[in-house]
Amino acid sequence: MLNETLVLCCGDSVILSDPITGQGCNTASYCAEQFYETLIAHKESPWDEQVGIDYWSRSRTYVTAVTEWTNAMTGLLPEHIVQMLMQAATDQETADRVVLWFENPLKANIVNTGLRIF
Ligand SMILES: Cc1cc2nc3c(=O)[nH]c(=O)nc-3n(C[C@H](O)[C@H](O)[C@H](O)COP(=O)(O)OP(=O)(O)OC[C@H]3O[C@@H](n4cnc5c(N)ncnc54)[C@H](O)[C@@H]3O)c2cc1C
Repeated sequence: MLNETLVLCCGDSVILSDPITGQGCNTASYCAEQFYETLIAHKESPWDEQVGIDYWSRSRTYVTAVTEWTNAMTGLLPEHIVQMLMQAATDQETADRVVLWFENPLKANIVNTGLRIF
């Protein structure tokens, strides 16, 4: 809220993703879509904090997964992830699983010390 007026932002203005995970445009598009859905759902209601809460509720799970995964990938990788990336070079099934992290960041889940792969 800024001077009691709701200000909503999306994409790079609030979610910073390193290009290494290639999620910048995907995340910006996803946020824009959720923004649109929120505006449609609230087209008859006042422009207040509840609109912002609804927008965050819609986008939170996805954007949190993206940013946590990005942070993990730009840091020191856990050994089992390094092994998996090496294995992906020669094993198509593993490579397909790795690609899914990019298609759907929810597939790559961070648990405290590193990535947990579903
Ligand atoms: C070198 C580079 C490589 C990248 N590679 C990838 C990639 O491979 N894959 C990927 O997914 N993402 C990549 N990204 C990230 C991706 O480009 C961004 O995440 C994405 O464009 C963000 O979209 P956005 O709409 O949030 O912001 P932007 O695309 O930055 O759009 C913001 C817009 O707001 C306008 N604006 C700013 N201030 C004002 C103002 N005061 N009034 C009116 N308009 C204003 C700007 O002119 C701009 O048009 C890359 C980025 C860079 C820089």
